Formats: sequence, structure tokens, C-alpha cells
Amino acid sequence: MTRERPTHILMTQFPAVDGVLQVGGVPLTTLATRVGGTPFYAYDRQLISNRIAELRAQLPGAIELHYAMKANPMPAVVHHLAGLVDGIDVASAGELQVALDTGTPPSEISFAGPGKRDGELAQALTTGITINLESFGEMERLARLGEQHGHRPRVAVRVNPDFELKASGMKMGGGPKVFGVDAELVPDMLGRIRELDLAFQGFHIFTGSQNLRAESLFEAHDKTFDLAYRLAEEAREPLTFLNIGGGLGIPYFPGDQPIDLAAVGEHLHDHVETAHRRLGKTKLVMELGRYMVGEAGVYVARVIDRKVSRGHTYLITDGGLHHHLAASGNFGQVIRKNYPVAIGNRMDVPPEENATVTGPLCTPLDMLADRMDLPRADVGDLVVVFQSGAYGLTASPLGFLSHPGPGEVLV
Ligand SMILES: *Cc1c(COP(=O)(O)O)cnc(C)c1O
Repeated sequence: MTRERPTHILMTQFPAVDGVLQVGGVPLTTLATRVGGTPFYAYDRQLISNRIAELRAQLPGAIELHYAMKANPMPAVVHHLAGLVDGIDVASAGELQVALDTGTPPSEISFAGPGKRDGELAQALTTGITINLESFGEMERLARLGEQHGHRPRVAVRVNPDFELKASGMKMGGGPKVFGVDAELVPDMLGRIRELDLAFQGFHIFTGSQNLRAESLFEAHDKTFDLAYRLAEEAREPLTFLNIGGGLGIPYFPGDQPIDLAAVGEHLHDHVETAHRRLGKTKLVMELGRYMVGEAGVYVARVIDRKVSRGHTYLITDGGLHHHLAASGNFGQVIRKNYPVAIGNRMDVPPEENATVTGPLCTPLDMLADRMDLPRADVGDLVVVFQSGAYGLTASPLGFLSHPGPGEVLV
């Protein structure tokens, strides 16, 4: 018996017309001109809207959706999402500015992240958003700033849980962590919050992200609610909200399958009922970044050279690692795997050759696809990297090798 090599799932979200991929109904070739040339990121607003509609349909109605905007902070994208979701989670004062510019009420914005500077805390404090406390030191600094500025800080406690989210691409809770306050220390923190007269809002329990296995999320949700009930007893006042994190992943690599959203929603239904019984009117929030935007975006680069070295074909493009670190395999991946890649103006041509797609940087790390079966591509053709709507441009080392930055467009 032969073992089949795992393949990428088909990227069906963007149609092709006459062999040219369309984003938001516009052919890539046209978009390239519209944005002033290649390389560029293009995001499809209808796909983002569809994804939110899908989440609304599959998750219990009582679950509020927040956009974790570090996934894609392009102002046009954040603005579009602001009209679809219930709140925005920011991770810096810079992100906070963009979130406020969308008109999202400060009461629906929260600010997480270790190492918030005094200046950032003051900015957050005066706008009235919720600040997720990540340490005792931060809490004391915030309280002093609150007195100085004459504002009572609205705070939530970000909890570093006493368990881990299994099978996550990125673990952000359990064991020693820079994020959040160890669960066992939360009762002490709640006591100090009362002494300092901070306006306590609730808990933020984020266990990890990029999870494709529904069973892992069931377990994480079971443990998250369990922990929340234990901590809520220590709070002595009803929680305004409980943020149960997110974690929904998207399929990037060969063999990856989409998460079973319906199953996650089904499992959450029971929890929502129990939570209403045990916590009363507490708002339940899920925060998601990549799941909302990741599949709605592509990165597009143009082939500027084609060469064969000792029998192997290289397609050298004008885009690469400096624009799209994640696709190059250098954004936290342990083993390099290819993102789904296509030749965007030859979508009607079957794979004809095995080629490696690189960028222009003088480093072997600058690779967009390694030994992939692709239609034959020539100078001028457009290489498309799918699943690029999240952790793309702003998660990349734009300054590395001093090439120009990519364009960016929401269609
Ligand atoms: C990064 C982050 C997210 C978003 O993770 P995704 O995998 O993009 O959904 C959510 N919450 C917190 C606290 C984060 O730091």
C-alpha cells in the first residue's frame, strides 16, 4: 500500500475567470495595476462578512464576538469588521487608536498584552476602555496613573490558566507564562483591585491559538468555564464579562483540515446555559483574529526571474520573507511547510513542473514555496499565497534588506 502524500485542501474561496484569480470580483491582474504594482496583499470584504455570518450561525447567540486586531490591523479591515462584530481587542496603544477611529464604543474595546508602558496605560485609561491586567506591577502602576489623571480604571484580570490548550499552534497559557496572572494568584489580585477601587469587569482566559481540533477546544472550554466559576466566587461581585479566548485555527499546511465549527458551537451551547445559571447576566466573549480574516486574504508577487540550478527550477519573485514572514516558515513554525500557493494568472493550467518560489533577499530563508508542483510560470506571472489575511504584512520584517513594502487593498 502506498501512503499518499498529504496535500493542501482546495482553495475555493476565490473564483477564477479565464484562468485569472479574482478577489472581490476584481481580477488579480487588474488589482496589480490598481494598487500601483506588485507585490501586494488583497483582502476580500465579502469573505470576511461571510465568515462572521458563519460564526453567528454556528455559535450560540449569547456568545459575543471580538476581533483580535493584531491579526490584521489594516484600518479598512478593522473598520469593516467593526460593523460586524461586538467589540475589538487591541494589544497596543497604536491598535487602540485604529479601534477608536472605527467608532467602536470604548466599553467594547479591551487592551491585553504584557509590558504596557505608562504612556499606553494613560491613553487607554482616559478613553475608558477595559485594560486586561497582566501582572501585579502593572495593576499598581495603572492605579497610580488613574489617580494622576482623575479616571477610575476599568480592569479585567487576564488569567494564566492552570491548564494548557492541547494541539495548539501557539500555546499562550499554562505553566510559567509572561501572559496573565497565574490562576492561583487571582484571588490576591481581586483583593488588591478592591483596595485600589479599580472598576473590575471580569476575566480574560486565553489558552492558545491556531487550533484545528474541535476536541481540544471542547476540553479547553470545559476547563475555562470551570476555572471561571471558581474565580467568579472570589470576585464578590458579578462579572460584566468573561472572555473565554478563541483559538479557532485555519488550514495552512498539507494535511490540515478546517475546524468543525458546528461541533464547537454545539459544545458551547451547554456551557452557555450553565454560565447563565451560574454567572447571571455576564457577557460571554470569544476573541478571534485569524479565523475572521486569515482565509479572506492573498499575498501576490510577480515572477521577476526564472532559473534552473542543477536541474531544479527557481521562480524568483519581487516579494518574500520581508513581506510575509509566516509563509516563509519563519514565524514560529518548527518545521517549514508550504502555504497553499498558485500561479494567479494560470489557474486553469494543471501543475506541470516542480519549482521553488523565492523572494529577492540574499538569504536562503527567503522562500515562499519549496518544491511545489505548479503550472509553468514565467517572468511577469503572478504568484499567489493563500491564507494570507492574518499575520502577514505587520507580522513581517519590512525593513530587512531595504526593499519597498507591499501594497495593501481591501476589495
Ligand atoms: C493573538 C491573540 C489572539 C488572536 O489569535 P488568533 O489565532 O489570531 O485568533 C486572541 N487573543 C489574544 C489575547 C491574543 O494575544
